[in-house]
Amino acid sequence: MGLNISPVGSMKKLPFFLPFGGCRGRCVYCSQSTITGAADIPSPEYVSSVLRELDGPREVCFFGGSFCRFGHSTIKEYLDTVINSAPSGSRIRFSTYPGDMSDPHVMDLIKTYPIACIELGIPSLDPSVLSLCKRDADPQVILEDIKNIVDEGLPLGVQMMIGLPGQTKESSIADLKKLSEAKGPLSWDLRLYPCLVLESTELDNMRINGSYTPLPLNQAIEWGGVFIGCATSLGFNPIRIGLQESELLASKVKGGPHHPALGEMISSESLIRKLTKYNPRGPWIVPEEHISKFTGHGCFGLRRLAELTGTTTTAVSEKLSFFPPTGKII
Ligand code: SF4
Repeated sequence: MGLNISPVGSMKKLPFFLPFGGCRGRCVYCSQSTITGAADIPSPEYVSSVLRELDGPREVCFFGGSFCRFGHSTIKEYLDTVINSAPSGSRIRFSTYPGDMSDPHVMDLIKTYPIACIELGIPSLDPSVLSLCKRDADPQVILEDIKNIVDEGLPLGVQMMIGLPGQTKESSIADLKKLSEAKGPLSWDLRLYPCLVLESTELDNMRINGSYTPLPLNQAIEWGGVFIGCATSLGFNPIRIGLQESELLASKVKGGPHHPALGEMISSESLIRKLTKYNPRGPWIVPEEHISKFTGHGCFGLRRLAELTGTTTTAVSEKLSFFPPTGKII
């Protein structure tokens, strides 16, 4: 499964998936029916019927499409549904294509609702990567849109990717830094999706004709670890790494770093890189809550710590301790 990190005390999320809702084209890697398992867009009436059954406030989420491209009246219908049917105190989170909030009609509408977070799909800010992915966003438009949203005081999050056609580790880190400048001192939720090749996507055709080489698992872990380390140091709050694992997803993956524990392994890699950056040879003292990052998935973290320091798992485990103190881990 991907890593899903919910901040303590955050409101429970209730997601509704609106596959391809509002999308004007198809990004080469995207298959919403595979990612979300949803074939149809639920109507506002259906959403309302679910919300009326709730026993307390929720963060009502609209994912799986480009929410702000639905058109003014449809956007309003979904948002009104939350106000009229969800328990008082509920808030709204949605994912959308960047650039659309620059439309003052959309902005004026959205800001009248209790918004928990607007998640912008920003797989990359590199124009050549965006073009290869058939994304129509101009990086400058994305950054202007972000500025408008921040100026309105609306909470933002970003959904980013690694391993895209034409993308490099360096370009993805440069993207993070540009977004960080736009973010300023705010903390933004971050979802990171290492690129998978899914059945019936253009990316799968690109894989077959040789114009795209999927990212191998070990490279995705390393790239992801560096990326997440950089993101947290810049004040981003990673709330998810990797797609939600499901039997459907597993049956449709044609290439790329598919692993049920990808999120956990990237998170381990990030921690281990941080430890070895500040103290290349150890000893290392780590909060006990991180023990599974060393012991999980066949002691993945311990093995990576040994690899990165050029020694053995036994040697690194002797230099590793946890607080509060715990016994030996191998
Ligand atoms: S990635 Fe987002 S914008 Fe692109 S096709 Fe999928 S849902 Fe639509």
